[in-house]
Amino acid sequence: MAKSLKQLQQQRRNYLEELTGRDKRDKGLRIAASRKLFKMKLATADLHSHSKYSDGQSSVAENAARAKLVGVDLLFATDHGRITQKRDTAKLPNATWGEESHAGGFDMGLLQPKRAHKYSPNQSAADGFAQGRTLAPFVWAAHPVGFSPVNKVWFKRMFNGLCSIDDLAMEVLNGFNAMRSYFRTGIWGVRMMDALLCAGRSVTPVGVSDAHFLVEIGNSWTGVLAATKSPASIIKGLQEGRCFASEAPLLELRCNGKPMGSKLKPKRGSALKLRFRAADSFGLSSVRLISDGKVIKEVDAKGAQLVEDALTRKAAGKRTYFRLECTANDDLRAFSAPIYVNW
Ligand SMILES: [Zn+2]
Repeated sequence: MAKSLKQLQQQRRNYLEELTGRDKRDKGLRIAASRKLFKMKLATADLHSHSKYSDGQSSVAENAARAKLVGVDLLFATDHGRITQKRDTAKLPNATWGEESHAGGFDMGLLQPKRAHKYSPNQSAADGFAQGRTLAPFVWAAHPVGFSPVNKVWFKRMFNGLCSIDDLAMEVLNGFNAMRSYFRTGIWGVRMMDALLCAGRSVTPVGVSDAHFLVEIGNSWTGVLAATKSPASIIKGLQEGRCFASEAPLLELRCNGKPMGSKLKPKRGSALKLRFRAADSFGLSSVRLISDGKVIKEVDAKGAQLVEDALTRKAAGKRTYFRLECTANDDLRAFSAPIYVNW
């Protein structure tokens, strides 16, 4: 008898699960080894995941166990339009609640909202996100550029919508239904981030799994330079932009001693001392410093596990930003939040 679509989908998931089970365990070990090289207080968090409370295929406990295996310290269970999953996260040391809702044509993620967000279809994106912030300490646009391929008309429409949102945070890496977050959402997500930054909008990039299936957890996540791995410490780091979106490597960028997310107003002509680090125990192939949409320094890492470098620029008195990105030997990538100058 012919298999139903549901059976075929299940078969594919089983296959992917088997194929990547070992890969995921290896990824956990890889990130643990990278942390030792990185030598900084760091928490890794998956801000976006689904469970059986909405359209996810696994329980919150199963998702949290998988997060631990792949090197993700904290899992936010962000089921659609509800926070009842909080019952389950309360029993788990490495999980907490969030929600996925909508605002003005975008999907909106909320971390620890006090109550479930009620979607109002007639609200603008700006109003919707502002309302989300009254409920939750951190909100962001989920897969704002959609899932590639993206056309110019769509990109422009999303760009205009995102421009209207103040203090925007958005996913540049989303691991849903993909083996590689970068090729699924990252190419256009990172392009959108640079377009928004060049237009003078601040953007905090985040990475998430958006897992509906267990196999997707660990595809991408957000690294936060946080004092502890508690939800409060992670949320504070996200609010301040001390973070990077990643598929595996770890990143840190400082300007005049100030971390990612900082807004600096240097004296014209004074020195901007940029220091950056990238770590991946699997080995790095390239580390790039970007300003105003252009690579201003590229380090050929030649497989090194740790890259530390610096660059000094003269403050020009105009608005500019710096961000860091890197590629590992197996092409997994990470993208830091920017440092803003004269913003
Ligand atoms: Zn989702």
